[in-house]
Amino acid sequence: DAHHKVLIVGGGSAGVSVAARLLRLGVRGIGLVEPSATHYYQPLWTLVGGGRATARASARPQRSVLPKGVCWIRGRAESVDPDGRTVGLADGRTIGYDRLVVCPGIQLDWDQVPGMAQAVAAPHASSNYTYRLAPKTWDLIRSLRSGTAVFTMPAGPIKCGGAPQKIAYLAADHWRGQGVLKDIRVVLVLPTPGMFGVPVFAEELERVAARYGIEVRRNSELVEVDPDGREAVVVDRSSGAGESIRYDMMHLVPPQSAPDWLKASPLAGPADPGGYAEIDRHTLRHVRHPEIFALGDAGSSPNSKTGAAIRKQAPVVARNIAASLTTAGPPPASYDGYSSCPITTSRHSMLLAEFDYTLRHRPTFPLIDTTRERRDMWYLKRYGLPFLYWNLMLRGRA
Ligand code: FAD
Repeated sequence: DAHHKVLIVGGGSAGVSVAARLLRLGVRGIGLVEPSATHYYQPLWTLVGGGRATARASARPQRSVLPKGVCWIRGRAESVDPDGRTVGLADGRTIGYDRLVVCPGIQLDWDQVPGMAQAVAAPHASSNYTYRLAPKTWDLIRSLRSGTAVFTMPAGPIKCGGAPQKIAYLAADHWRGQGVLKDIRVVLVLPTPGMFGVPVFAEELERVAARYGIEVRRNSELVEVDPDGREAVVVDRSSGAGESIRYDMMHLVPPQSAPDWLKASPLAGPADPGGYAEIDRHTLRHVRHPEIFALGDAGSSPNSKTGAAIRKQAPVVARNIAASLTTAGPPPASYDGYSSCPITTSRHSMLLAEFDYTLRHRPTFPLIDTTRERRDMWYLKRYGLPFLYWNLMLRGRA
């Protein structure tokens, strides 16, 4: 294990995709550091929480998704020495590299909001942001017949910025189908002034929220939870006003940031307060260490953090690494910030928001109007995208 031509830290969506792409480009000598025996397709967790998929369908053995020819180093990275070109693991091993790819994902900061961790451990709150909790979200939704349901989104970058509201629409649609929506007060707490960063999608989501009678709290954040009294304290950042809402069910999304060890490493830096690996937003190469690249949720590039972004980033990183191994000169491939967010607006419809660094609508299917919620897009989310993920993206084919 001691030295690899290319060392990848993290075997999630990004790490496996880059490894597969590098192999296709003929690069050998790839090592991949990953502690977990299970690989997760996290986008399915929204559907698990909404009662439309099983948790089990989101998990596969790590070994089954790692491309053959990649050396799996079962361990957890905890330090990087860019001068010595080594990565230190928690178990004491040190691994050398010629090129390093940093993609350990994002960290869920449950402790940033007092009471949040306790709330999800108690009976009335859940979160689709973990494999273990997502099924509990569905249990809470289907057993609620009246009362108050609160859905929250934290400020700052998170993975899949649409996920905090997707589950609110899946829940409201279920309650409407059961004839109980009129007896349930639904509150959606958003840190932003609008429903989405891209205006054309924000307008459509306004209509969706209004259709369900959802009370949207804008510019607002959950600042504290009392899990025993079932009180959620929400502050409106524009007026400073606080409000305490008693909930019968709550879906929580924790604040997120780079993994602590990455924040503390020389790869983080002053330009990025979240502690992400500081990379050029187009070449995805580290701004101070040219032999290091990063992508996915742990990179500082200002795209929306999704698997869809990684689908476009992975080929860029692989090409730039392969080129750097054979020739000097600037990296040939460039990422334009593409990201997409399939927003489930009911149990049968979806809005496919696609955009890039310019925050303009960037449709993959120009002939169909994806600025509106659509039933065919639901099938894309439920069946098409998981197929694309497991069979094409993780194999470096799409
Ligand atoms: P991950 O896939 O999280 O992988 C990180 C890997 O690094 C993990 O395997 C982890 O075990 C490993 N790791 C962690 N620490 C270390 C360490 N110290 N050393 C070595 N390895 C380490 N995206 C979409 O495109 N569409 C969606 O609809 C969508 N919906 C989502 C809904 C939910 C509820 C969630 C939670 C996410 C959603 N996403 C969606 C986002 C998407 O899942 C992530 O953006 C994507 O998984 C990020 O890939 P990654 O490789 O950067 O991180």
